[in-house]
Amino acid sequence: MSDLRNKRIITVATTGAWPTKENNPNVPLQPVEIAEEVYNCWKAGAAIAHLHVREDDSTPSMNFQKFDEVVGLIRAKKDCDIILNITTSGGIGLKEADRLKPFYELKPEIATFDCGTMNWAHSTIFENSPKFLVKLGGMMQEVGVKPEIEVFDPGMIYNAAYYIKTGVLKAPYHFQFCMRVPGGIKGTTKNLVFMRDTMEEVAPGSTWSAFGVGASAMEIMYAAIAMGGHIRVGMEDNVLYKRGVLAESNVQFVERARRCIEEFTLEVATPAEARQILGL
Ligand code: ZN
Repeated sequence: MSDLRNKRIITVATTGAWPTKENNPNVPLQPVEIAEEVYNCWKAGAAIAHLHVREDDSTPSMNFQKFDEVVGLIRAKKDCDIILNITTSGGIGLKEADRLKPFYELKPEIATFDCGTMNWAHSTIFENSPKFLVKLGGMMQEVGVKPEIEVFDPGMIYNAAYYIKTGVLKAPYHFQFCMRVPGGIKGTTKNLVFMRDTMEEVAPGSTWSAFGVGASAMEIMYAAIAMGGHIRVGMEDNVLYKRGVLAESNVQFVERARRCIEEFTLEVATPAEARQILGL
């Protein structure tokens, strides 16, 4: 295994809560198609799969049976060692108990820890109350699931500082900088540098990954790779592969991410290497 500092982890977020077949007919929404897509993305170089599920009518969901099915189907592929990362949000306004159950029962290696509440896309409230976050952090420690600290603006990084201080989050920390979500920070290189520097202030030496939704995707991907970060791609964040062109699959995003990493003369981390980098 060569130097881990030259490795970059690709996370694929195949589904998310929002894209529909009307937005892009290729977005995988049901368990069999999600599992198949994750498997193909793993073959293309993704080390982590960030998972969401939908109801039969495609609405955003934290339906435990659906998660159980997706996770079961992926784990049944015996050659596939991809790291699973289960969302704890799943959409807006979902019940806390439903948000907590999938990671607690299914024990993926990673689950998301959305480190604050925000006005989501100028339409609704993405609620992660202090009480919920304390409970979430405690339950993650209880079952040994690593939090991916998702931050949508710098204030959320300072929230993380508080949860680090109070022991709700335990080292080693891993951050995901989620950029250009309306209501959060804009997806620019300057802002990514600020996010990384703020993280270094509160949790020096932590690992981090970044993505920009929509039009900021390429800038944030290039900047993150150049700055030593890991990256996330996929249809949760973009239904377009490039301006005016619908993505054919999540694999297409993973393949492009791989090419970009390799153009930097870096290497794509395997799941085994990602486990070492993240301390799983
Ligand atoms: Zn997500």
